[in-house]
Amino acid sequence: MLIPPNPSSSSLVDVLSVDRWLPDETIFSLCSRQHFLSGAALQQAVLDRFFIGLRAGMNHDVPAHLAMFIRATSGRFGTNPLDLCRDHSLVRLYLPWLSTECERVVIEAIANQGTQPARSLLGLTRGRFGTTHPLKLCRECVGADSSTYGTGYWHLQHQYPGVWWCEIHRRQLEVSALGRIKNGRYVWTLPRLSSLPRVPLMVVGSVGMRHLTETIAHSANLPSNFHFDYQRLKDTYTAKLADAGLMKSTDTVDRRQVSLQFLDHLLSMRDVQELTVTPGICHLIARRLDCLLYLACMTRHPLIHLLFIDWLFDGWPAFWSSYNTIPCHTGVPFRPLRSQVYEPHTSRH
Ligand SMILES: [Zn+2]
Repeated sequence: MLIPPNPSSSSLVDVLSVDRWLPDETIFSLCSRQHFLSGAALQQAVLDRFFIGLRAGMNHDVPAHLAMFIRATSGRFGTNPLDLCRDHSLVRLYLPWLSTECERVVIEAIANQGTQPARSLLGLTRGRFGTTHPLKLCRECVGADSSTYGTGYWHLQHQYPGVWWCEIHRRQLEVSALGRIKNGRYVWTLPRLSSLPRVPLMVVGSVGMRHLTETIAHSANLPSNFHFDYQRLKDTYTAKLADAGLMKSTDTVDRRQVSLQFLDHLLSMRDVQELTVTPGICHLIARRLDCLLYLACMTRHPLIHLLFIDWLFDGWPAFWSSYNTIPCHTGVPFRPLRSQVYEPHTSRH
C-alpha cells in the first residue's frame, strides 16, 4: 500500500536536495545522499520525491521503477531509463551480453516494475554467484571523495561482479558492512571513514584478481549499441583454442585440458569473492564448458565469459582484436566496433 506524501517532509526535501550526479555514482548512492540530506530519518520523503512513494530506489544493484524516478524528478537526473541503467547501475555490464530484444525487455521491466522481473531476466535469481551483488567500496576513494565532495559515496566501477580492485588507488575493495539488512539488501547509507572497520595494512589482491578487474572494465565500456554475436563469440573462442593447441580436431575441443587449465586460472583468484561464494564453484565453471563453447546452451552471464576471456586471451585487448577480425562463420556482414577509450588509471578526483 502506498503511503500518501507527507507535505511537511516534501517541503523540507525541496530545500535540502541533491541536484546533480557525482562522478561514477550509482542510483542507490544518489538516493542515499538525498536520504542523508533529509536528515536520515525522512525515508518516506525521499521515496516521495524520487519514486512517488514506491520503495524502488532502495535496490543497491538492479534499479527499479525508473520511469517513476524520471517523472518525479522532472528528468533532472536523466530522461532515458536505458541511459540511467548504463551510466548509474551495474546493469551496464550485463547489457552487451543480451540480444537487442532482451535488452529492451529488461529495460522495460526496470523502468516500470519492481526489481524482481529484471533480476529474473538477467539470470540473477538462479545465478551461480548469488542472487544479489555485494555493496563494495575503496576506503581511499571514500577519503578522497569526502575531501572533494564533502561525503563518501558509492562508485559504479566498484560494483560490477568480479571487480575487487580500485584501479585508481591500487588497493583491494571491501564489502560494506554499513546498512546491510538481510538477503544481501541494504538500507540507504553512505560510506564514511569513521564507521569503517579497521584493517591492519593495505590489502593487495592477487595478480589474477587485478587483471580480471581490467578485463571487466573494458567490457563495461563497450558502446551502448553493442551486443555480442554469439556465433562470432564461439568462433573467436574456438580459433584461440586451436592456436593454443587445445583442439583435438577442427571441431573437437580437448575438454580435459581446457578444463584443467581454466580451473588452475580460477583457483589462482580465490580473492575474487564470486569464486568462493559457493563451495566447488571453480570446478563447476571449469567443467561446464558447454555454456561457453556451444551455441545452443551458451550462457549470457558476463562474468563467466569474462573469466574465460581473461584466461584464454590473457586479457581484453587480444580477445577484442580477434573478435573484430575473425572471419564470420555465418557469412553475415559484420561491422567492427572499437571499444570506447578506457583509461584504467585516470583519476576521477
Ligand atoms: Zn579507490
